[in-house]
Amino acid sequence: MLSPMDAVQDAANDLDAAHCPCRLLKTERADSVASITVVPPVAGAPPSTGGRNPAPHCSPSQTIDYLTCPRLWWLKRRWSRRGAWTPHLALGTAIHRGWAAMLRGEPNATTIAQTTLLAEITEQTGVDYEVAQDTNWPLDDLERLVDRGLDALERHTPLAGMQPLLIETPLTPHMIPDVICQDGDSVTVVDLKTTYKTSTYLADTLADTQHDWQMRQYAWGWRALTDVAPTTMQRVLLVLTPKPAVHVFRAPIGDLDRWYAQAAPIWTHMAALTGATLDAWQLPGATPQCRTKYGRCDFYDGCWGTDLSDKQLGVLYNQRPPRLETNDAPRP
Ligand code: SF4
Repeated sequence: MLSPMDAVQDAANDLDAAHCPCRLLKTERADSVASITVVPPVAGAPPSTGGRNPAPHCSPSQTIDYLTCPRLWWLKRRWSRRGAWTPHLALGTAIHRGWAAMLRGEPNATTIAQTTLLAEITEQTGVDYEVAQDTNWPLDDLERLVDRGLDALERHTPLAGMQPLLIETPLTPHMIPDVICQDGDSVTVVDLKTTYKTSTYLADTLADTQHDWQMRQYAWGWRALTDVAPTTMQRVLLVLTPKPAVHVFRAPIGDLDRWYAQAAPIWTHMAALTGATLDAWQLPGATPQCRTKYGRCDFYDGCWGTDLSDKQLGVLYNQRPPRLETNDAPRP
């Protein structure tokens, strides 16, 4: 087991991406690294893994953030972007819930989706959205989008020929696959993404399917529980406008043992850095020019326009409530 300081140094070496401006700040081992504490696993949280592979204590989305840029992962756990509200996240959550209900054969899938939509919007905006609607996003229009999205999923039947084994059920507190299916003699991991409109996101999503971390982590979690290794991952992309469309991409999962051999040290690094302060935390990132596939990194102004103190970051971002360090909020 690496000491926290060795883990930090190893991570710095492994992730020495010269194109990331993080390296300009401070890449040497900082004295304050000594303040890092390795957070022990939450008792009882991990699933049985047959003693073969310890379960990770971070979700796929957290790991993906870390791989994108370690500092992005660190900042995102503590701060959220301020800006004009959009309903995209709420739409995605509502459609996920409705689709899961459809797959379970529940008769009220649309009602579940609509109820989820209003609850999500109310939580995100902090207002009673039925009363105080954003005129750019009338509730009726959003409800129609949800209906049309579910209708497209029902008509397209992206799971045709497969039998769901698990639908939006946690494998661990940090891993909640959308669907895991029996697919002939093998098992397929399915993930639904929704996007508001057609964009370059479509091409990115195809590429992402082939090297997708999230579905491989779910596949690994499923194998740990059942000893059956899924062989295929399938991304279902629902585009909501201008006309609902469903796209399906499939890709082989490959050798999960090889994947895990690379994943385990990454989780070790993350665990070692979970309690670190930002002073200790100047590892280079792997994101060229601080851009993600969604555009410029949300934390660009904070990283390069402030002294990174809570006071200055607080002008640009909302502070997230404290959380259990080893727990990750389930993905909607
Ligand atoms: S702006 Fe984003 S990508 Fe760039 S160093 Fe900061 S957190 Fe990382």
